[in-house]
Amino acid sequence: MTGTDESQPKADQFGGPIGALALSIVMPLAGFYLWAALEHHGGSMWLPRSVSDVLSMFPVPTLKASALFVAFVGVHGVLYAFGPGKVVQGRPAPNGEQAEYRINGLFAFVVTTIALVAALFFDLLSAKTILDQWGPLLMVATLFSVVASVICYGAGRGRGSLERSTGNVIYDFFMGTILNPRLGRHDLKFFFESRVGMGGWAAFAVLLPAAQIETQGSLSTAMLVVTLCQALYIVDFFVLEANLLSMIDIIEENLGFMLWLAFLVWMPFNFTIQQQYILAAEPSLSTLAAVGLLLLNAGGYYIFRSANLQKQQFRRDPSRPIWGQVPQSLQTKRGTKLLLSGWWGIARHANYLGDMLMALAWCLACGVGSIVPFFYVIYFVPLLLDRERRDNTICQRKYGADWDRYCEKVPYRIIPYVY
Ligand code: NDP
Repeated sequence: MTGTDESQPKADQFGGPIGALALSIVMPLAGFYLWAALEHHGGSMWLPRSVSDVLSMFPVPTLKASALFVAFVGVHGVLYAFGPGKVVQGRPAPNGEQAEYRINGLFAFVVTTIALVAALFFDLLSAKTILDQWGPLLMVATLFSVVASVICYGAGRGRGSLERSTGNVIYDFFMGTILNPRLGRHDLKFFFESRVGMGGWAAFAVLLPAAQIETQGSLSTAMLVVTLCQALYIVDFFVLEANLLSMIDIIEENLGFMLWLAFLVWMPFNFTIQQQYILAAEPSLSTLAAVGLLLLNAGGYYIFRSANLQKQQFRRDPSRPIWGQVPQSLQTKRGTKLLLSGWWGIARHANYLGDMLMALAWCLACGVGSIVPFFYVIYFVPLLLDRERRDNTICQRKYGADWDRYCEKVPYRIIPYVY
């Protein structure tokens, strides 16, 4: 073992090997179930009652969908490799290795979005024709996730004791055995999260409203609200892409089936569930409700962005004022400081609260006609509640007694004065 003990994981997250097995089955099934709900049942919940019902959940992959998938990953690969942008070093992993990251996501996002919008505007492309491949694309992305996870599992095991793994095959397949698999010096995890996951979400977030204009002649208020809110989130991500380098996904999580599926399937296909539902079920939304939801989204965005920025800026310059005051902090034996000011002084993960409020706004824009579009907030809130607890365990391991001192000073986990 060349890493330190703090990097040696136990099979104790998500309910251990049994939980990992259950999630490896349930997560892809949820994607297929939702696809079938939207494709065959008008966006309503449904119960499979026969074998043919069950089979109808699984779209058949097509050559066209495979070509679209490969082309999409290829275009982003070329833009990543050759697009202008600085190359930065990531945080050293516990084994001392450091991957490289080309920060040119904004460039790739702008180029691909302009190209897509122009192709749609000049009728070179029909959104409906691409979305007809939604099911096959979902299947292709899911199968790719499985194959990529097997390869990454093998790659991690092949590196022997360098990478973190527990020795339990099922758990390690799900959680991964390799932290930053690289092509050359570049981290593939970053590429697939930022460019394929977020980039795929961005492309669908353009195609879905475009399909509504093609089929229904105009954008509905609900579609406009969700598209504006998601556009803010996506643009924000690409403008501040470098911030991904300090996120748990990059610095803590191995690249296993959980992350492959999250990047390739959940981000593009499930994060757009509201737009898909609006296209299928055409819910109406009053102007007053639209304004209220835009305000809720703005409030959530403010908390999310200001909390994340406070931490980033504090890490770069610990003397930079937060809310007009010199930041308070706690010096740890590990060498770094824990911020005690701003959002980080009133809750340990207020940034998650902001994300939850935004998710709620997007779902509420779909009205209350079906629970299907609420899938996003229904899975996302427990995910963040669990993520906070997992990060708490990670920080306890990293900071020991210093983390306990921080928790004493900042007792609330996510919602100040409540939770
Ligand atoms: P954080 O950005 O909150 O990062 C947690 C890490 O920050 C800790 O491990 C620790 O690492 C450091 N840290 C914790 N407390 C302090 C402190 N007081 N002072 C300084 N550093 C501290 O977590 P995530 O990466 O999970 O989330 C980032 C954002 O991404 C959030 O806004 C979240 O809501 C969002 N998100 C969105 C998802 C989506 O699907 N849309 C999914 C997951 C997250 P260290 O000390 O080693 O730096």
